[in-house]
Amino acid sequence: MTPKKALLWFRNDLRLDDHEVLAQLPESVYQLLCVFCIDPRDWESQDPGISRTGPFRTQFLLESLHQLRHDLRARGNDLLVRMGPPELVIPEISQAWDPDIIYFEKEMAPYENQVEVELINNVRSRWFIKTYYGKSLIHPLDLPFDIDQLPDVFTKFRNLVEKKASLRPPYPAPEKLPPYPHEEWPVHDIPEFEELCKEALPNQEAKAQFQYSGGEKKALEHLNAYFSVPEKAQNYKETRNGLLGGHFSTRFSAWLSMGNLSPRRIMQQLKEFEAEHGANDSTYWIFFELLWRDYFRFAVWKYEEKFFQKNGIKNQAPAMQAHLGRFEQWRTGQTGQPFVDACMRELLHTGFMSNRGRQNVASYLVKDLNVDWRWGAAWFENRLIDYDPCSNYGNWAYVAGVGNDPRPNRWFNVERQAEMYDPEQSFQHHWLS
Ligand SMILES: Cc1cc2nc3c(=O)[nH]c(=O)nc-3n(C[C@H](O)[C@H](O)[C@H](O)COP(=O)(O)OP(=O)(O)OC[C@H]3O[C@@H](n4cnc5c(N)ncnc54)[C@H](O)[C@@H]3O)c2cc1C
Repeated sequence: MTPKKALLWFRNDLRLDDHEVLAQLPESVYQLLCVFCIDPRDWESQDPGISRTGPFRTQFLLESLHQLRHDLRARGNDLLVRMGPPELVIPEISQAWDPDIIYFEKEMAPYENQVEVELINNVRSRWFIKTYYGKSLIHPLDLPFDIDQLPDVFTKFRNLVEKKASLRPPYPAPEKLPPYPHEEWPVHDIPEFEELCKEALPNQEAKAQFQYSGGEKKALEHLNAYFSVPEKAQNYKETRNGLLGGHFSTRFSAWLSMGNLSPRRIMQQLKEFEAEHGANDSTYWIFFELLWRDYFRFAVWKYEEKFFQKNGIKNQAPAMQAHLGRFEQWRTGQTGQPFVDACMRELLHTGFMSNRGRQNVASYLVKDLNVDWRWGAAWFENRLIDYDPCSNYGNWAYVAGVGNDPRPNRWFNVERQAEMYDPEQSFQHHWLS
C-alpha cells in the first residue's frame, strides 16, 4: 500500500524529535492531517470527587499544543485541535476526509487502551491503522521476554534488560513535512485555559523552586542545559533525594509524561555526556531511574486493570478506610505532621513534589492515616504536572504494599525521614512559613 493521505492522531507524544511516524513517513504521503483531541472526560471527577486534571497539567498541555502547532507550521504542516472523545472524533474526521492510513502511538494503561480499542472498532473496516511505541526507553519488541513473563521484582527486570535488551537510537526531527489540508480542515484557536479547567492556576512564583513550561522547545532547552553543567549529572545519585531547590534531580519527568521529550533522546545525551566527562555511579543512576519508569509501564501492561484496583496485583490490601476528613487534611497539607504538610503544600501550590516527598506522603496516607491509596493516587493525578498513569499508580501500589514491592509491610517513618533528608528543616520552613 502506498498511502497518499495520512492522518496522525497525536496523544502523549507532543513532539517532533524521535517521533517514529514523522521520521518514517512514506514519500508517497502528499497530505498529512495532524490532529489532537482534547477529551473533556480528562477534566471529569473521580472518587472522591477530584477532577482528573488540575490547573498545572492543563496549563502544561496547552503550552505543549501551542508549541507543537508552531513547530508543525515551521515544517509546512499544522495541527487541528478538536474537543471530544478521540474514539468518536478520529472516525468522524476519517469519514469525511477518507485518509489512506491513520497513525497513532500506543499507550499501555487500560483506560487509554480502551479508547484505542473503541477507535479501532469504529474505523477498522474502512481505514488502515498503524500504531507505534514511543513512550519507553526500551522498545517493547526488544524485551528479552514476553510481557506476561515480566518479573514482578524490578531488580530481576533490570538484570535481564541490562544483559539482553539493546537500546534503539532516537530518530531525528523531520526538516520538512507534507502539507496540511487547510481547505478541508481549517484550524481554529486552541481552547483557552478557562474552557477546560474550573480551578484557576495558583500563584506559585514566590515559593516555587523551578518553573515548568510545556512544549518540546522548553524540553530540549532544559535537556541541553542539564547536561551542560557537568556537576549535575556527575552528582545525581548524591543529590537526587533532595527536597529544596530546582536542580537536585533532573526535572525531566513532566516533559517525558507529555511526550515533549523522548527517553531515547535523554539516553543519547547521557551517553554523549559519559563519553566526554566519564561515566560514574551517578550517570548510571539516571539510566537506572529511566528503567524504573519503563518497568512500571510494562508492569501496567502486564496486569492491566488490576494495577488500579484496591488489592492491586497482590490481591491483598492494607486496612484502609474511606475517611474523607483525614484525606482532606492530608490533601491540603493540614495533618499537623510538618514534613508531610510541607510536601503536600508544595504539591498543592506548584504541581511538583520530590520523589523522597512522594514516597513519604504516600506511606503516611496509607500506613499512618489508613486512607484508601487510590484517593491519594487520584489527588496526585489531578495535581502532578508529570502525572503519568503507569508511574503514578505503579508507585502508589508499590508504597501501599499491593504492587511490585518484594518487601512486605514497608513503612516510612516520616519523622526519621525528615531528620535524615531535611536536617536543618529548611524545606519545612520554606513551605510552612
Ligand atoms: C507515590 C508516587 C507517585 C509518583 N507519580 C509519578 C507520576 O505520576 N509521574 C512520574 O513521572 N513520576 C512519578 N513518580 C516517580 C518520581 O517521583 C518522579 O518521576 C520524579 O520525582 C520526577 O522528578 P525528576 O524528573 O527530577 O526525577 P529524577 O530523579 O531526575 O529521575 C529521572 C527520571 O526517571 C524517572 N523516574 C524517577 N523515579 C521514578 C520512579 N520512582 N518511578 C517511575 N519513574 C521514575 C522519571 O521519568 C524521571 O524524570 C511517583 C513516585 C511516587 C513515590
